[in-house]
Amino acid sequence: MILGAHEGIAGGVSRAFERAELDTAQAIQIFVRNPRGWASKPIEDEEVERFRSEARRTGMPSAAHSIYLANHAAADPELRVKSWGALADELGRCEQLGISFLVFHPGSNADVDGAVKLVAEGMERAIDAVKGKARLLVEITAGQGKSLGWRFEQVAAIREAVPGAARRRVGVCFDTCHAFAAGYDLSTPEGYASTFRAFDEVIGLEHLKAFHLNDCKKPLGCRVDRHEHIGEGALGREPFRLLVNDPRFESLPGFLETEMRFRENLDVLRSMRR
Ligand SMILES: [Zn+2]
Ligand SMILES: [Zn+2]
Repeated sequence: MILGAHEGIAGGVSRAFERAELDTAQAIQIFVRNPRGWASKPIEDEEVERFRSEARRTGMPSAAHSIYLANHAAADPELRVKSWGALADELGRCEQLGISFLVFHPGSNADVDGAVKLVAEGMERAIDAVKGKARLLVEITAGQGKSLGWRFEQVAAIREAVPGAARRRVGVCFDTCHAFAAGYDLSTPEGYASTFRAFDEVIGLEHLKAFHLNDCKKPLGCRVDRHEHIGEGALGREPFRLLVNDPRFESLPGFLETEMRFRENLDVLRSMRR
């Protein structure tokens, strides 16, 4: 696995690379617009150039994480359309910056079947609006409240609800904390094996494009999204040791989202490599 971290963009998106270098990360995940508001200025051409040149200089692969305000399955049409618009805007920014993946949470709605269709429609609109190669990655969620995407079946259904040509630009991001919180017990070797067997049967491992590497503050099946430092939570060290040594995931990026102590967490992960 290529070990990376979610880095800040204060001072411009291009600044994330130098922060990653200080943290000894080898890949970056960033926000490509203000994550706390709906309004966001376009990225200036000079900043796009700086980002691309930093990407070349460091050789780091990159991903973007979508804003948290969005709900692509919202029952309220105004919020839904605003969310879909933000997704298309962010995918456009990824294309502009040369970022391969836009990771996003599908959204929430009590009606699961209806929600799957709504999310897929928003994804199709974004992909149709932004020509290019950048992919949308549906993130496995913790299943907090009415949020969608905590069962592999739901993630597979979302992917499959996106029509043919657009579906080629849809992949999946596996968050270790979220999957565990959702009830997938990857904390033991047996549980790890059966979790990825189920992922392969239901979604297909070929669609897995990135990881979020987070330990989980709360116990298995808690349905609560609280990240913990690697090895210090309910997941413990074992699943991370298995992940960093798993040849199936050798070329995939894995991003820490613990917000602090990235360097220390990366050292822990590297120390587990055989
Ligand atoms: Zn996320
Ligand atoms: Zn999370």
